[in-house]
Amino acid sequence: MVETLVLIEHDRRQVKRPSLHAITLAQQLGGEYALLVLGHGLDEIAASLVSYGAAAVIVADDPALAEPLADRYATVIAEVARKRGTKTLLGTSSTFSKDVLPRAAALLDAPMVTDVLAIEEMDGSIAYRRPINAGSMLATVKVEGDRRVLTARATAFEAPAANVAVCPTERFLFDAASLPNGVQFISREQRASERPDLTESRVVVSGGRPLRDPETFERLVGGLADALGGAVGATRAAVDAGMAPNDYQIGQTGKVVAPELYIALGISGAIQHLAGIKDSRIIVAINKDPDAPIFQIATYGLVGDLHQIVPQLIESIRRG
Ligand SMILES: Cc1cc2nc3c(=O)[nH]c(=O)nc-3n(C[C@H](O)[C@H](O)[C@H](O)COP(=O)(O)OP(=O)(O)OC[C@H]3O[C@@H](n4cnc5c(N)ncnc54)[C@H](O)[C@@H]3O)c2cc1C
Repeated sequence: MVETLVLIEHDRRQVKRPSLHAITLAQQLGGEYALLVLGHGLDEIAASLVSYGAAAVIVADDPALAEPLADRYATVIAEVARKRGTKTLLGTSSTFSKDVLPRAAALLDAPMVTDVLAIEEMDGSIAYRRPINAGSMLATVKVEGDRRVLTARATAFEAPAANVAVCPTERFLFDAASLPNGVQFISREQRASERPDLTESRVVVSGGRPLRDPETFERLVGGLADALGGAVGATRAAVDAGMAPNDYQIGQTGKVVAPELYIALGISGAIQHLAGIKDSRIIVAINKDPDAPIFQIATYGLVGDLHQIVPQLIESIRRG
């Protein structure tokens, strides 16, 4: 029996680092935990997971799981959880887990708590702290029953240290022919990018509505990010206006980031955007309106026109 099962995400080449942070929550929950990885051709990925203090790395490797189709993944995840007597099924807060884990929770008939920031003991059982109302308030919740599904905010938990002890890798055998096939994979479109992943980067440069068009956005936001070796993000206004792709969006309905340095270019600081950036260590805002709400949470603020300031900034960083 494994008390906690941690779902590990990967991009076929390597593990996605935010999913490792969920291991830290598994450690805080106590008891034995195992790591679960699904896909096809997983030998290297599984090998990279053996020293995180887990009881085992459980691998569901099959051509039927080559693409992350949520109905198939959820079926296998629920089967592993049932067979291992898992009490807590745990993943990181991500687009992938939003797709897969609620289905697994339904199959397990288990309550789900998303975006866990911390746990605390309350009346002899565990309570979970999570943000509500776009992060403007925190709720502490408890769940009924023996089994639960959680997602952890990666930014709220440190990455676990790898240790020297190596755990076994176990192959999970299942009947691939009996998996749901209502959804068929057709194609994948992926942007090749040299830039670091938005949720993992130590520096994030984001742009808002005044960036006008994709070319200006790329030149100024992309240019400053490249000069600093950082990732590029955007507000929903910039994404909706077609200046930046969807997966750049940061905030309540986008990604949550907590870099060392977050630079906001022409971003007003709406609560829905702040929900995705407020754990950043240093926030620098450039905005022409001295009363813009972003300045209330910025560590450093520069009042002025970004179209004049940013090219000078890029130039002086490049000159060293
Ligand atoms: C349910 C819901 C969910 C949402 N989820 C998200 C989300 O996940 N992420 C998100 O970002 N938003 C989200 N929003 C939208 C959010 O409310 C704001 O509308 C959005 O964040 C505003 O984007 P912005 O700051 O780019 O634009 P604006 O609010 O228009 O701000 C533009 C800023 O640029 C400044 N500016 C203008 N010209 C210049 C210049 N030349 N130089 C310097 N500064 C300049 C202005 O002073 C202003 O402060 C959501 C809204 C709702 C209702």
